[in-house]
Amino acid sequence: MDGCLFCRIIKGEIPCSKVYEDEEVFAFHDISPQAPVHILVLPKKHIPDLSEMKEEDCGLMGKLVWAASSIAREKGFAGSGFRLVVNTKESAGQSVFHVHMHLMSGRNFHWPPG
Ligand code: AMP
Ligand code: ZN
Repeated sequence: MDGCLFCRIIKGEIPCSKVYEDEEVFAFHDISPQAPVHILVLPKKHIPDLSEMKEEDCGLMGKLVWAASSIAREKGFAGSGFRLVVNTKESAGQSVFHVHMHLMSGRNFHWPPG
């Protein structure tokens, strides 16, 4: 989508530190990491946020979770634990309106989150 930061990163118009890519999924390091490991995992399809997910996106969202889990195993932090977060709307902390999962690891995380 024109003007979407993450669509532009996926298209290669804006540089990123890529971690993973396939036909439907893209992952890169967060520019402002909040943990020793902080990777963003997103669909190439532009979906603004989880509230706009359609039933037809169920398989796609499953692939995001699978990609996150696979990245965790391949990078060696699956065993020590990780957190997968999807902020939805400004009130929940969303700042980029192309749905994405934060894959975070390498420190202890508190509950409930702030
Ligand atoms: P959220 O606030 O949940 O929408 O997450 C957006 C995330 O995108 C934040 O953690 C930002 O640090 C990250 N971010 C913003 N711009 C970039 C960029 N150019 N490259 C990588 N990560 C970015
Ligand atoms: Zn987008």
